[in-house]
Amino acid sequence: MTQDSSLNRPYSAHTDVKLRIGIVGAGRGGWSLLQVLMDLPKVQVVGICDLDPKAPGLSKAKTLHVPIFTNVSDMIANQEMDWLINVTHSSLTQRHMLTREVTKPIHILDGAAAEVVWRFLTGFHQQVQQCSQSERTCAYNMVWTLINRIANAVGEMQQRLTDIAFHDPLTGLFTRRILMEFLEHEIRNTYRLSHPLSLIIMDIDHFKSINDEFGHLEGDRILQELAGLLKENHRPSDLVARIGGEEFVIVLPETDQENGMRIAERLRGQVEKSLQRPDGTPLTVSLGVAELNINDPIPQRMTPSALIECADQALYHAKNSGRNRVLPFNPDWKRIAF
Ligand code: GH3
Ligand code: MG
Ligand code: MG
Repeated sequence: MTQDSSLNRPYSAHTDVKLRIGIVGAGRGGWSLLQVLMDLPKVQVVGICDLDPKAPGLSKAKTLHVPIFTNVSDMIANQEMDWLINVTHSSLTQRHMLTREVTKPIHILDGAAAEVVWRFLTGFHQQVQQCSQSERTCAYNMVWTLINRIANAVGEMQQRLTDIAFHDPLTGLFTRRILMEFLEHEIRNTYRLSHPLSLIIMDIDHFKSINDEFGHLEGDRILQELAGLLKENHRPSDLVARIGGEEFVIVLPETDQENGMRIAERLRGQVEKSLQRPDGTPLTVSLGVAELNINDPIPQRMTPSALIECADQALYHAKNSGRNRVLPFNPDWKRIAF
């Protein structure tokens, strides 16, 4: 996130150009931010979104004739904006925007940067209520310049920190924490939109023997090679995470079990064909696939851990039935306690 991105359409006291802002999150934070922004000169709130259609900020927005959305992607696709302020505290939103949504030069204020801007603006807004109109306009002009700089500085710092927190240092893949957050989001979407969702868990076969025979560094190198292959072979909407030593998870939104199996089988073949153990023999992996079936007569909603557990059971059976294979979860094996 460079300073230039926010200077795409610089806010200026001397022009009529409005700073177009989209808000992500319509809970208490989004609600009060919306109120403040609507009062500001030379600011146009072009949309507000929240997954929860009953979020208070959305009904407030309706009365103010601000477009409302229940999905970040729709808001970004439909509205032109300069700033996107995410007040949901969800690091996921940032991932979404960085990896698949934002192809436009939008300045994203997330996490700490959004918090700073939100607190600063709401506090400031209260303070200037007593001022005259001309004093207020002058103060707002100064404040916007200041906020732009603060948001840039905090945003860059935060970007570096989230990069560290989101990614496994050895492979660069997403961490378990991001996986769980992403799954939570995708499971909610699946129930809301009745779209399919499946998940693959992959485990390297006999990996311990690579470490034992060739050393840990060779083992690390293999993990990096496999991660490279996974990075090159997934769709932008998928998420690939390293969840343990030599275990990886691929979340496949909009994908049913049949297609999940096809993707898993393709990956299995690619690994066997293109990766080798240090002795030159093919590296192989076993995979388990599970699907979130919203028609399953389960007492409660599926959770991220339960879905991973289903795929893990399939993986366990793949290992036991000879390795280097893909198996789907079979609900008859054992009822998972949801
Ligand atoms: P299986 O086919 O049943 O999966 O056998 P395996 O040998 O792959 O499985 P096991 O669970 O016995 O061994 C996993 C090994 O992965 C043990 C552990 O030392 C190694 N490991 C875990 N994390 C790392 C890492 O970051 N780097 C390296 N080099 N090895 C790791
Ligand atoms: Mg293994
Ligand atoms: Mg393992």
